[in-house]
Amino acid sequence: MTESLLLQNVRPLEGDRADVLVIDGVVKRVGAGLEAPGIRVVDGRNGILLPGLVDAHTHLDKTLWGRSWHRHSAGPTIQSRIADERRVRKALGYSPEEQSTNQVRQAITMGTTHIRTHVDIDTEIGLANLEGVLATRDRFREAIHLQVVAFPQSGLLVRPGTEALMAEAISMGADLVGGIDPSSMDRDPVRHLDTIFAIADRAGVGIDIHLHEPGMLGAFALELIAERTTALGMQGRVTVSHAFCLGMVDEAYLEHLTGLLIDNRIAIMTHGPGDIAFPPVRRLYEDGVTLGCGSDGIRDSWGPYGNADMLERAMLLAFRSGFRRDEDLELVLDIATGGGAQVMGLADYGIAPSCRADFTVVAGETRVEAIMNRASRIAVVQGGRVVAADGECLV
Ligand SMILES: [Zn+2]
Repeated sequence: MTESLLLQNVRPLEGDRADVLVIDGVVKRVGAGLEAPGIRVVDGRNGILLPGLVDAHTHLDKTLWGRSWHRHSAGPTIQSRIADERRVRKALGYSPEEQSTNQVRQAITMGTTHIRTHVDIDTEIGLANLEGVLATRDRFREAIHLQVVAFPQSGLLVRPGTEALMAEAISMGADLVGGIDPSSMDRDPVRHLDTIFAIADRAGVGIDIHLHEPGMLGAFALELIAERTTALGMQGRVTVSHAFCLGMVDEAYLEHLTGLLIDNRIAIMTHGPGDIAFPPVRRLYEDGVTLGCGSDGIRDSWGPYGNADMLERAMLLAFRSGFRRDEDLELVLDIATGGGAQVMGLADYGIAPSCRADFTVVAGETRVEAIMNRASRIAVVQGGRVVAADGECLV
Protein backbone atom coordinates (compact mmCIF):
# COMPACT_ATOMS: atom_id res chain seq x y z
CA MET A 1 0.00 0.00 0.00
CA THR A 2 1.64 3.21 -1.14
CA GLU A 3 0.57 6.66 -0.07
CA SER A 4 0.84 10.29 -1.10
CA LEU A 5 2.72 12.72 1.08
CA LEU A 6 4.13 16.24 1.13
CA LEU A 7 7.31 16.10 3.18
CA GLN A 8 8.19 19.69 4.00
CA ASN A 9 11.28 21.37 5.31
CA VAL A 10 14.05 18.83 4.70
CA ARG A 11 17.58 19.16 3.30
CA PRO A 12 18.25 16.48 0.67
CA LEU A 13 21.74 15.05 1.43
CA GLU A 14 22.32 18.17 3.61
CA GLY A 15 21.69 20.48 0.62
CA ASP A 16 19.31 23.46 0.46
CA ARG A 17 16.00 23.29 2.25
CA ALA A 18 13.28 21.71 0.11
CA ASP A 19 9.96 19.92 0.11
CA VAL A 20 9.32 16.51 -1.41
CA LEU A 21 6.03 15.66 -3.09
CA VAL A 22 5.20 11.96 -3.15
CA ILE A 23 2.24 10.67 -5.16
CA ASP A 24 1.19 7.03 -4.73
CA GLY A 25 4.55 6.11 -3.23
CA VAL A 26 6.69 7.72 -5.94
CA VAL A 27 8.69 10.96 -5.71
CA LYS A 28 7.10 13.49 -8.09
CA ARG A 29 8.88 16.73 -7.25
CA VAL A 30 11.67 18.00 -5.02
CA GLY A 31 11.83 21.75 -4.60
CA ALA A 32 11.16 24.77 -2.41
CA GLY A 33 7.67 25.88 -1.42
CA LEU A 34 5.71 22.98 -2.89
CA GLU A 35 1.98 22.89 -2.30
CA ALA A 36 -0.38 19.96 -2.67
CA PRO A 37 -3.87 20.60 -1.31
CA GLY A 38 -5.55 17.57 0.16
CA ILE A 39 -2.35 15.60 0.62
CA ARG A 40 -0.97 14.67 4.02
CA VAL A 41 1.79 17.05 5.17
CA VAL A 42 4.69 15.99 7.39
CA ASP A 43 7.20 18.49 8.78
CA GLY A 44 10.79 17.25 8.36
CA ARG A 45 11.95 19.87 10.92
CA ASN A 46 14.97 20.92 8.85
CA GLY A 47 16.41 17.40 9.04
CA ILE A 48 18.71 15.81 6.47
CA LEU A 49 16.83 13.74 3.90
CA LEU A 50 18.61 10.48 3.14
CA PRO A 51 17.46 7.66 0.93
CA GLY A 52 16.44 4.74 3.15
CA LEU A 53 19.29 2.97 4.93
CA VAL A 54 20.12 -0.47 3.53
CA ASP A 55 21.22 -3.38 5.70
CA ALA A 56 22.62 -5.55 2.91
CA HIS A 57 23.50 -8.46 5.17
CA THR A 58 21.85 -9.57 8.34
CA HIS A 59 20.51 -12.73 9.99
CA LEU A 60 16.92 -12.16 11.08
CA ASP A 61 16.62 -15.79 12.21
CA LYS A 62 19.42 -15.51 14.74
CA THR A 63 18.70 -12.34 16.68
CA LEU A 64 17.87 -12.32 20.36
CA TRP A 65 16.69 -8.69 20.19
CA GLY A 66 13.85 -8.01 22.59
CA ARG A 67 14.72 -10.85 24.96
CA SER A 68 16.53 -10.62 28.26
CA TRP A 69 20.31 -10.29 28.07
CA HIS A 70 22.14 -13.30 26.73
CA ARG A 71 25.47 -14.07 28.35
CA HIS A 72 27.93 -14.86 25.53
CA SER A 73 30.21 -17.83 26.03
CA ALA A 74 30.78 -19.41 22.59
CA GLY A 75 34.33 -20.24 21.52
CA PRO A 76 36.28 -18.35 18.87
CA THR A 77 35.71 -20.62 15.86
CA ILE A 78 32.77 -20.61 13.46
CA GLN A 79 32.10 -24.26 14.29
CA SER A 80 31.92 -23.59 18.02
CA ARG A 81 29.55 -20.67 17.42
CA ILE A 82 27.31 -22.82 15.23
CA ALA A 83 27.19 -25.50 17.95
CA ASP A 84 26.53 -22.88 20.64
CA GLU A 85 23.71 -21.40 18.58
CA ARG A 86 22.00 -24.79 18.29
CA ARG A 87 22.17 -25.16 22.06
CA VAL A 88 20.85 -21.64 22.71
CA ARG A 89 17.97 -22.00 20.23
CA LYS A 90 16.79 -25.17 21.93
CA ALA A 91 17.19 -23.79 25.43
CA LEU A 92 15.19 -20.66 24.60
CA GLY A 93 12.47 -22.30 22.52
CA TYR A 94 13.46 -19.88 19.79
CA SER A 95 10.73 -18.50 17.47
CA PRO A 96 12.17 -17.28 14.13
CA GLU A 97 8.96 -15.38 13.35
CA GLU A 98 8.81 -13.58 16.68
CA GLN A 99 12.52 -12.76 16.74
CA SER A 100 12.71 -11.61 13.12
CA THR A 101 9.71 -9.39 13.84
CA ASN A 102 11.56 -7.84 16.76
CA GLN A 103 14.59 -6.98 14.63
CA VAL A 104 12.52 -5.75 11.67
CA ARG A 105 10.57 -3.31 13.87
CA GLN A 106 13.80 -2.04 15.40
CA ALA A 107 15.37 -1.64 11.93
CA ILE A 108 12.35 0.32 10.69
CA THR A 109 12.58 2.57 13.75
CA MET A 110 16.24 3.26 12.90
CA GLY A 111 15.49 4.24 9.30
CA THR A 112 16.29 1.04 7.44
CA THR A 113 14.01 0.58 4.46
CA HIS A 114 15.69 -2.43 2.81
CA ILE A 115 17.19 -5.59 4.31
CA ARG A 116 18.87 -8.62 2.79
CA THR A 117 18.76 -11.41 5.33
CA HIS A 118 20.40 -14.80 5.25
CA VAL A 119 18.30 -17.59 6.77
CA ASP A 120 19.72 -20.90 8.00
CA ILE A 121 18.74 -23.98 6.04
CA ASP A 122 19.99 -27.33 7.33
CA THR A 123 18.89 -30.88 7.94
CA GLU A 124 18.12 -30.25 11.60
CA ILE A 125 16.26 -26.92 11.32
CA GLY A 126 14.82 -27.86 7.93
CA LEU A 127 12.82 -24.94 6.56
CA ALA A 128 11.40 -23.75 9.89
CA ASN A 129 13.54 -20.60 10.09
CA LEU A 130 12.64 -19.75 6.51
CA GLU A 131 8.94 -20.16 7.23
CA GLY A 132 9.25 -17.79 10.19
CA VAL A 133 11.15 -15.12 8.28
CA LEU A 134 8.84 -15.38 5.25
CA ALA A 135 5.87 -14.82 7.58
CA THR A 136 7.60 -11.68 8.86
CA ARG A 137 8.33 -10.56 5.30
CA ASP A 138 4.64 -10.91 4.44
CA ARG A 139 3.49 -9.15 7.58
CA PHE A 140 5.75 -6.12 7.01
CA ARG A 141 5.55 -6.10 3.22
CA GLU A 142 4.24 -2.52 3.18
CA ALA A 143 6.74 -1.24 5.72
CA ILE A 144 10.13 -2.64 4.70
CA HIS A 145 11.61 -4.46 1.71
CA LEU A 146 13.07 -7.83 2.73
CA GLN A 147 15.22 -10.03 0.51
CA VAL A 148 15.87 -13.56 1.74
CA VAL A 149 18.94 -15.71 1.09
CA ALA A 150 18.70 -19.48 1.67
CA PHE A 151 21.88 -20.00 3.70
CA PRO A 152 23.55 -23.39 4.32
CA GLN A 153 25.15 -22.21 7.58
CA SER A 154 26.30 -25.67 8.64
CA GLY A 155 27.59 -26.75 5.23
CA LEU A 156 26.05 -28.13 2.09
CA LEU A 157 27.89 -31.30 1.10
CA VAL A 158 28.80 -32.36 4.63
CA ARG A 159 25.09 -32.55 5.47
CA PRO A 160 23.44 -34.71 2.81
CA GLY A 161 19.91 -33.52 2.17
CA THR A 162 20.77 -29.83 2.45
CA GLU A 163 20.96 -29.32 -1.32
CA ALA A 164 17.35 -30.48 -1.79
CA LEU A 165 16.24 -28.21 1.09
CA MET A 166 18.01 -25.25 -0.52
CA ALA A 167 16.16 -25.81 -3.79
CA GLU A 168 12.89 -26.15 -1.86
CA ALA A 169 13.66 -22.90 -0.01
CA ILE A 170 13.87 -21.07 -3.33
CA SER A 171 10.57 -22.53 -4.49
CA MET A 172 9.00 -21.40 -1.18
CA GLY A 173 9.99 -17.81 -1.82
CA ALA A 174 13.63 -17.26 -0.84
CA ASP A 175 15.11 -14.73 -3.28
CA LEU A 176 18.73 -15.88 -3.49
CA VAL A 177 20.94 -18.91 -2.97
CA GLY A 178 23.60 -18.67 -0.27
CA GLY A 179 26.86 -20.50 0.26
CA ILE A 180 29.66 -20.63 2.80
CA ASP A 181 33.43 -21.18 2.87
CA PRO A 182 33.56 -23.83 0.16
CA SER A 183 36.98 -25.22 1.11
CA SER A 184 36.97 -25.12 4.90
CA MET A 185 33.29 -25.93 5.47
CA ASP A 186 32.65 -28.54 2.79
CA ARG A 187 36.30 -29.35 1.95
CA ASP A 188 35.34 -29.45 -1.72
CA PRO A 189 35.22 -25.92 -3.18
CA VAL A 190 34.47 -26.90 -6.76
CA ARG A 191 31.52 -29.11 -5.88
CA HIS A 192 30.16 -26.66 -3.29
CA LEU A 193 30.18 -23.81 -5.79
CA ASP A 194 28.95 -25.93 -8.70
CA THR A 195 26.03 -27.02 -6.50
CA ILE A 196 24.91 -23.54 -5.42
CA PHE A 197 25.40 -22.05 -8.89
CA ALA A 198 23.34 -24.89 -10.38
CA ILE A 199 20.47 -24.28 -7.93
CA ALA A 200 20.59 -20.54 -8.70
CA ASP A 201 20.82 -21.08 -12.45
CA ARG A 202 17.87 -23.48 -12.50
CA ALA A 203 15.72 -21.09 -10.48
CA GLY A 204 16.93 -17.93 -12.23
CA VAL A 205 17.96 -16.24 -8.96
CA GLY A 206 21.15 -14.60 -7.68
CA ILE A 207 23.78 -15.78 -5.22
CA ASP A 208 25.20 -14.31 -2.00
CA ILE A 209 28.02 -16.36 -0.49
CA HIS A 210 29.68 -15.98 2.92
CA LEU A 211 33.43 -16.10 2.32
CA HIS A 212 35.45 -15.86 5.52
CA GLU A 213 38.35 -17.91 4.17
CA PRO A 214 41.65 -16.08 4.56
CA GLY A 215 44.43 -15.15 2.16
CA MET A 216 45.08 -17.40 -0.79
CA LEU A 217 42.36 -19.87 0.19
CA GLY A 218 39.73 -17.14 -0.02
CA ALA A 219 41.32 -15.72 -3.17
CA PHE A 220 41.09 -19.14 -4.82
CA ALA A 221 37.39 -19.31 -3.92
CA LEU A 222 36.88 -15.83 -5.42
CA GLU A 223 38.46 -16.99 -8.66
CA LEU A 224 36.18 -20.03 -8.76
CA ILE A 225 33.15 -17.80 -8.08
CA ALA A 226 34.15 -15.42 -10.89
CA GLU A 227 34.69 -18.35 -13.27
CA ARG A 228 31.18 -19.68 -12.62
CA THR A 229 29.62 -16.22 -12.81
CA THR A 230 31.09 -15.79 -16.30
CA ALA A 231 30.17 -19.29 -17.44
CA LEU A 232 26.50 -18.91 -16.44
CA GLY A 233 26.15 -15.27 -17.51
CA MET A 234 25.33 -14.25 -13.93
CA GLN A 235 27.19 -10.93 -14.04
CA GLY A 236 25.58 -8.43 -11.66
CA ARG A 237 23.73 -11.14 -9.70
CA VAL A 238 26.46 -12.44 -7.41
CA THR A 239 27.53 -11.02 -4.04
CA VAL A 240 30.45 -12.14 -1.92
CA SER A 241 29.91 -11.29 1.75
CA HIS A 242 32.94 -10.52 3.94
CA ALA A 243 35.69 -11.49 1.45
CA PHE A 244 38.32 -10.96 4.17
CA CYS A 245 40.91 -12.28 1.70
CA LEU A 246 40.76 -8.98 -0.21
CA GLY A 247 42.43 -7.36 2.79
CA MET A 248 45.12 -10.04 3.02
CA VAL A 249 46.60 -10.60 -0.45
CA ASP A 250 49.46 -8.58 -1.94
CA GLU A 251 48.94 -5.62 -4.25
CA ALA A 252 49.39 -7.48 -7.53
CA TYR A 253 46.94 -10.19 -6.53
CA LEU A 254 44.46 -7.63 -5.23
CA GLU A 255 44.55 -5.94 -8.62
CA HIS A 256 43.88 -9.27 -10.33
CA LEU A 257 40.95 -10.06 -8.01
CA THR A 258 39.52 -6.56 -8.36
CA GLY A 259 39.57 -7.04 -12.14
CA LEU A 260 37.55 -10.25 -11.77
CA LEU A 261 35.01 -8.50 -9.52
CA ILE A 262 34.56 -5.61 -11.96
CA ASP A 263 34.42 -7.77 -15.11
CA ASN A 264 31.74 -9.97 -13.52
CA ARG A 265 30.01 -7.16 -11.60
CA ILE A 266 30.37 -9.19 -8.42
CA ALA A 267 29.41 -7.11 -5.38
CA ILE A 268 31.22 -7.17 -2.05
CA MET A 269 29.48 -6.80 1.31
CA THR A 270 31.52 -5.79 4.31
CA HIS A 271 30.36 -4.99 7.81
CA GLY A 272 33.59 -3.66 9.27
CA PRO A 273 34.53 -6.81 11.19
CA GLY A 274 36.32 -6.90 14.53
CA ASP A 275 39.82 -8.29 14.68
CA ILE A 276 40.46 -9.54 11.16
CA ALA A 277 41.73 -7.97 7.94
CA PHE A 278 38.92 -6.98 5.56
CA PRO A 279 38.45 -5.44 2.11
CA PRO A 280 40.10 -2.04 1.49
CA VAL A 281 36.96 0.05 1.21
CA ARG A 282 38.18 3.25 -0.46
CA ARG A 283 40.40 1.40 -2.89
CA LEU A 284 37.60 -0.91 -4.08
CA TYR A 285 35.07 1.94 -4.19
CA GLU A 286 37.37 4.04 -6.39
CA ASP A 287 38.08 1.06 -8.64
CA GLY A 288 34.34 0.74 -9.24
CA VAL A 289 33.51 -2.39 -7.27
CA THR A 290 29.92 -2.44 -5.97
CA LEU A 291 30.13 -2.26 -2.18
CA GLY A 292 27.34 -2.72 0.33
CA CYS A 293 27.35 -2.70 4.09
CA GLY A 294 25.43 -4.86 6.52
CA SER A 295 25.06 -5.47 10.22
CA ASP A 296 25.79 -9.21 9.89
CA GLY A 297 23.19 -9.83 12.54
CA ILE A 298 22.51 -8.06 15.81
CA ARG A 299 22.39 -9.28 19.40
CA ASP A 300 22.57 -12.98 18.66
CA SER A 301 24.40 -15.89 20.22
CA TRP A 302 27.32 -15.07 17.89
CA GLY A 303 27.94 -11.70 19.51
CA PRO A 304 26.52 -8.95 21.70
CA TYR A 305 26.89 -6.09 19.20
CA GLY A 306 24.41 -4.11 17.14
CA ASN A 307 21.13 -2.26 17.48
CA ALA A 308 19.98 -2.37 13.84
CA ASP A 309 21.23 1.19 13.30
CA MET A 310 22.98 1.41 9.95
CA LEU A 311 24.39 4.84 10.85
CA GLU A 312 26.22 3.11 13.70
CA ARG A 313 27.32 0.37 11.33
CA ALA A 314 28.61 3.01 8.89
CA MET A 315 30.59 4.53 11.76
CA LEU A 316 32.09 1.15 12.66
CA LEU A 317 33.08 0.49 9.05
CA ALA A 318 34.69 3.93 8.87
CA PHE A 319 36.45 3.39 12.19
CA ARG A 320 37.86 0.04 11.10
CA SER A 321 38.94 1.62 7.80
CA GLY A 322 40.85 4.34 9.67
CA PHE A 323 38.72 7.11 8.15
CA ARG A 324 38.75 10.59 9.66
CA ARG A 325 38.05 12.94 6.77
CA ASP A 326 34.45 13.94 6.05
CA GLU A 327 34.74 12.84 2.42
CA ASP A 328 35.71 9.33 3.56
CA LEU A 329 32.79 9.18 5.97
CA GLU A 330 30.42 10.39 3.25
CA LEU A 331 31.70 7.53 1.13
CA VAL A 332 30.81 5.06 3.87
CA LEU A 333 27.30 6.49 4.12
CA ASP A 334 26.99 6.07 0.37
CA ILE A 335 27.90 2.40 0.84
CA ALA A 336 25.26 2.03 3.59
CA THR A 337 22.61 3.52 1.28
CA GLY A 338 23.11 3.48 -2.51
CA GLY A 339 25.81 0.77 -2.42
CA GLY A 340 23.53 -1.60 -0.54
CA ALA A 341 20.72 -0.75 -2.97
CA GLN A 342 22.97 -1.81 -5.84
CA VAL A 343 23.85 -5.03 -4.04
CA MET A 344 20.12 -5.71 -3.69
CA GLY A 345 19.47 -4.78 -7.32
CA LEU A 346 16.99 -2.02 -6.51
CA ALA A 347 16.07 -0.14 -9.68
CA ASP A 348 14.04 2.76 -8.31
CA TYR A 349 16.10 3.69 -5.25
CA GLY A 350 16.97 7.28 -4.32
CA ILE A 351 15.42 10.65 -3.58
CA ALA A 352 15.12 12.00 -7.13
CA PRO A 353 11.81 12.26 -9.03
CA SER A 354 10.49 8.85 -10.19
CA CYS A 355 12.25 7.02 -7.35
CA ARG A 356 10.20 5.04 -4.86
CA ALA A 357 9.63 7.19 -1.77
CA ASP A 358 11.71 5.28 0.78
CA PHE A 359 13.55 7.78 2.99
CA THR A 360 14.83 8.53 6.39
CA VAL A 361 15.04 12.05 7.79
CA VAL A 362 17.77 12.50 10.39
CA ALA A 363 18.62 15.37 12.71
CA GLY A 364 21.91 17.21 12.26
CA GLU A 365 23.82 19.78 10.27
CA THR A 366 25.76 17.39 8.06
CA ARG A 367 25.64 13.71 7.13
CA VAL A 368 28.91 13.05 8.91
CA GLU A 369 27.67 14.72 12.06
CA ALA A 370 24.57 12.51 11.82
CA ILE A 371 26.78 9.41 11.65
CA MET A 372 28.89 10.48 14.60
CA ASN A 373 25.82 11.36 16.69
CA ARG A 374 23.91 8.29 15.50
CA ALA A 375 21.37 11.06 15.03
CA SER A 376 17.74 10.77 15.96
CA ARG A 377 15.42 9.69 13.13
CA ILE A 378 12.79 12.38 12.67
CA ALA A 379 10.76 10.33 10.19
CA VAL A 380 11.08 7.10 8.24
CA VAL A 381 9.06 6.81 5.05
CA GLN A 382 8.34 3.67 3.06
CA GLY A 383 6.43 4.05 -0.20
CA GLY A 384 5.18 7.46 0.94
CA ARG A 385 3.88 6.07 4.22
CA VAL A 386 5.40 7.23 7.52
CA VAL A 387 6.42 3.97 9.20
CA ALA A 388 8.40 5.40 12.12
CA ALA A 389 8.86 8.79 13.73
CA ASP A 390 10.98 10.08 16.59
CA GLY A 391 12.14 6.66 17.68
CA GLU A 392 8.73 5.02 17.55
CA CYS A 393 7.79 2.26 15.14
CA LEU A 394 4.32 2.96 13.72
CA VAL A 395 3.73 -0.42 12.10
ZN1 LIG B 1 26.53 -13.36 7.84
